[in-house]
Amino acid sequence: EAKKNGRGRYQVFAGDMDDLLLRKRKVEAELRKALDGDGGIKLAYQPVFAVDGHRILGAEALIRWGHEVHGALPAGQFIAIAEERGLIGELGKWALTEACRFAVTTELPWIAVNISPVQLRDAGFAALVASVLSETGLDPGRLQLETTEGVLLEHNDTISSVIATLRESGVRIVLDDFGTGYSSLSYLRRQSIDKLKIDRSFVRLLDEDESARAIVKTLIELAQALRVEVTAEGVETDGQKALLVGMGCRQLQGYLLSPPLEPSQLLALPGVSHAKPERSAVRA
Ligand code: C2E
Ligand code: MG
Ligand code: MG
Ligand code: MG
Repeated sequence: EAKKNGRGRYQVFAGDMDDLLLRKRKVEAELRKALDGDGGIKLAYQPVFAVDGHRILGAEALIRWGHEVHGALPAGQFIAIAEERGLIGELGKWALTEACRFAVTTELPWIAVNISPVQLRDAGFAALVASVLSETGLDPGRLQLETTEGVLLEHNDTISSVIATLRESGVRIVLDDFGTGYSSLSYLRRQSIDKLKIDRSFVRLLDEDESARAIVKTLIELAQALRVEVTAEGVETDGQKALLVGMGCRQLQGYLLSPPLEPSQLLALPGVSHAKPERSAVRA
């Protein structure tokens, strides 16, 4: 009996290992296909709203693995595999190009693209962004690049000069998931950035947790003192929204306002699509 259990466990373990390897290989294969333009990987777009009157300020591009049959692999894990396999540079370039190409066809004030730390450590990254912008015709002022604060903690001259070059060209730099994992804020003094996004782990607790409220209030005040914009991500309830607005947060993103959308769904929202007379007539 014990032997049978042991063998069973072994098989489960082996199965898991195979599954993991299989998934990694599939991700790699999907990536290669996506980079060849087969549509297996897509971008969803989650709008960011102004607190006043649900005006759309811009949208964040979020990578999606199109083939649901393979099982849902969260974007985070998927990115981690791309980083591990040395494919993040190519994937990142694809996402950036795709998002810029889309943004140019819309009236969105800006598009935000998530950037891996691996990309920011590449001295050629600013030049890559410049070439994608000129290829797609997107105004640099309409591009925001989101990165996590960890990368700014690295005392790395390449990263600093890449960020400086990008900002000089008009591209905005956004600190994503702000407030998580790191205790040092000194990089905020060393490194100029344009926007902070308060991590949803704090937003989620706003309704019930007094210390989360204190932290969020402090983060918003910090952004105001540094004269940088601030967005709250992961807003799911009216209570959270009311608290954030009361604390002076002007930009909100989250399921309460809108989940990530297909491009066509985003274009159907007011103020996103170019006003083409014949199209409005059909829709009306
Ligand atoms: P992120 O940039 O912080 O994106 C926010 C994540 O929260 C997204 O998950 C989004 O779908 C989800 N979300 C939005 N609103 C809500 C809400 O109200 N409640 C909850 N519970 N979740 C919400 P997603 O799409 O799975 O992406 C996860 C992470 O993967 C992103 O976190 C980002 O760091 C990374 N990522 C996504 N796309 C890319 C990409 O093109 N390149 C890179 N390097 N990373 C990406
Ligand atoms: Mg983001
Ligand atoms: Mg975020
Ligand atoms: Mg996050």
